[in-house]
Order: sequence, then C-alpha cells, then structure tokens
Amino acid sequence: MSMFVGHGASVRVEACGKTFADGTRALERATLDIARAETLVLLGPSGCGKTTMLRIIAGLEAPDTGGRVLFDGIDMTSVPIERRNVGMVFQSYALFPNMSVADNIGYGLKIRGVGRTERAGRVAELVALTNIGGLESRRVDQLSGGQRQRVALARAVAIRPGILLLDEPLTALDAALRDRLRGELNRLLRALGITTIYVTHDQSEAMELGDRIVVMQRGTIAQIGTPRDIYFTPKNRFVAEFIGAANIIESPVVDNHLMLPGGRLAIVGDANSAVAVAMIRPETIRIVEAGSGSLTGTIDSVSFIGDRQRIVVAGASDKPLTVDAPNTIRARSGDRIGLSISPDAVRLLPPGN
Ligand code: ADP
Ligand code: MG
Repeated sequence: MSMFVGHGASVRVEACGKTFADGTRALERATLDIARAETLVLLGPSGCGKTTMLRIIAGLEAPDTGGRVLFDGIDMTSVPIERRNVGMVFQSYALFPNMSVADNIGYGLKIRGVGRTERAGRVAELVALTNIGGLESRRVDQLSGGQRQRVALARAVAIRPGILLLDEPLTALDAALRDRLRGELNRLLRALGITTIYVTHDQSEAMELGDRIVVMQRGTIAQIGTPRDIYFTPKNRFVAEFIGAANIIESPVVDNHLMLPGGRLAIVGDANSAVAVAMIRPETIRIVEAGSGSLTGTIDSVSFIGDRQRIVVAGASDKPLTVDAPNTIRARSGDRIGLSISPDAVRLLPPGN
C-alpha cells in the first residue's frame, strides 16, 4: 500500500458560485477549505448543488467570474481536468464494459505512459486493496454492482491522485452491500491519505465517512462541522431535521421554561423572545413514571426496531414527541408516562427555518 499513501493536496474553493446558461442558480458564492488527507462530505437533498460543487473542483464546470479553485495554494481555475490530478468515481460506474478488470484499473496509467511492468505491479496492489482478487481478467460487464464500484475506485486511485472526488458512489447498490462497502471505503480512504470530497444525500453515510460535513441547502452552505457538531448543535431547523431524527418544538417561554401542554420544560440560557423554537433528539428523552419527570403524556404508538424501540408520545408537547428508548422497557400505547429531559438536551434554534 505504501506507494499510494500520502499524496493528498489541500483544496480551496474560493467565492465559487454557479449560474448555468439557462439562468439556473445552482450555487451561491461559497468559500471552502479542505485540508490535506481530509475527507469532506457534501450532504444535502437532491438539487441543492452538491454535484455542481464537485464538478467545479474537478474542472468539469467553470465557476462564475471571480470564483477560484486552488490546490495546495496553486490557482487551478483555468487548468483542464486532465491536468488537475484528480480521481473520480460516480454513481454510475463509467467503466469500459468490454475491457477486463485489470485493464480498466490500469487504463489511466497506460495513457500516462506508465510501462507494462510497473502498471502490473500497481494494478495488483489495487486489486488487493479493494478486495477483488481473482477477478482481474473478468470483463466488467460480468461483475456485480458492488464489484464494479470497487473496480471504479481502484481505477480512480491508480493514478495516485492528490484529490479523490466521489459522487454518490454507493447509491445504486442495495442496502446491505452499501453498508459493507461504506465500511471498506472508510478504511481505504483513511489508509490512503488522499484528500477526498464525497457527495451524498444519505446522512448516515456522511456521518461515518466525513471528518467534516458540509450541509447544503438550495445552493448555499447551511453548516460546516464535524459529524458531532452537526448532530448536536445544528445551526438551524433545516440541518436539525436533515440529520437524524429531531423533535422540533415551538413554544412560549416563561422564566427559561418552555410552557408545553404536558408541563414546564427547563432550558439552558436565555430565550429572550416570547416564543422559542427548540430541538430535542429522540434518544435524549427518558421515559419515567407518570408524575415524575418534567412532562407528562400518553403513549400513542410503539415500534420495535431491534436495537431500540421508537415511542411516539402525545399530549406532552405542541405535537407528538418521538422518543428512542431501550428495547428492554415495557411500553404500550395508552400508557400514561412521564418524560425526563435534561435542559442541555434542549437545543434552541433560530426562529423560522
Ligand atoms: P445535486 O447534486 O445536489 O442533486 P446539482 O448540483 O446536480 O444538485 O444541481 C443543482 C441545481 O442546478 C439543480 O436545480 C439542477 O437542476 C441545476 N443544474 C444542474 N446542472 C445544470 C445544467 N447543466 N444546466 C442547468 N441547470 C443545471
Ligand atoms: Mg448530484
């Protein structure tokens, strides 16, 4: 693996916006710094500008005037894609279907004039790294989806790119395979030390793979942070609801308490406005006996999810509250229960969206 390690370049996207010829504003001006060997995930719903951002970094799309892309501090804005030393993997495999696995992986090396012996050595190393030993001479159209994505990944890193760009590479695979490949990919990216920019609309993928996550919303950056930052301290309601499950509460405030139908709920800090918007994660709420805890409510439904149960409680807040409870507690719909919620689990959000 040694010969592939440590080629990561830093990336700066500076004031890059994108307006397409038909007038569509895909990206508002944004600046973003990505450290060497970092894995940065661009996360957001379909149409929010993730692919556009990636294509600008790759050199497949030019930013609007004034925008610049720098690798290791060097302005690459007018450098064409084939001279940017980037590797790319897409949702659809974009492999050569009638070539063998080995020829696909070695293709970029061949057109760069790397000799046969060195090529064979590097291909062998990548075959081992991506777990596709034994398939070298198969044609790509005789492979499964997961095998094809491994080949695509091996081909992308074969040229020892400074930057690896992945656009929803696992989206086309079924759930079980996606989970497994996600784990493999994570280990591979960490081992390679290539700077990686990974596009996905899947928040659990973003959490597992990202050193940092950029949450995008309609062409703008809603928040940048570590998975923990984004999960525990979302900046606004959009981020809170996009990442994981979130109870959003709108409530009058009196003396630092939310005044809810099922009781008074203490919050940390000053909510100066008369009405607050707050977020509570389902796993931070504890079900206790009716009468204890800060809120009282009635269990509306219980879903057993295996490792936990998801309980919906009515009458406690302005709308039903979702609670994730251990799978060992007894809970039935109709039960009167109390809810214990620590003040620091109640995260105040700016009003509106
Ligand atoms: P994402 O990858 O997050 O789904 P995209 O970056 O592909 O989003 O697209 C962002 C917006 O730009 C969308 O509204 C999309 O329809 C639009 N768009 C993308 N490519 C073009 C294009 N070549 N011409 C016009 N509009 C485009
Ligand atoms: Mg896209």
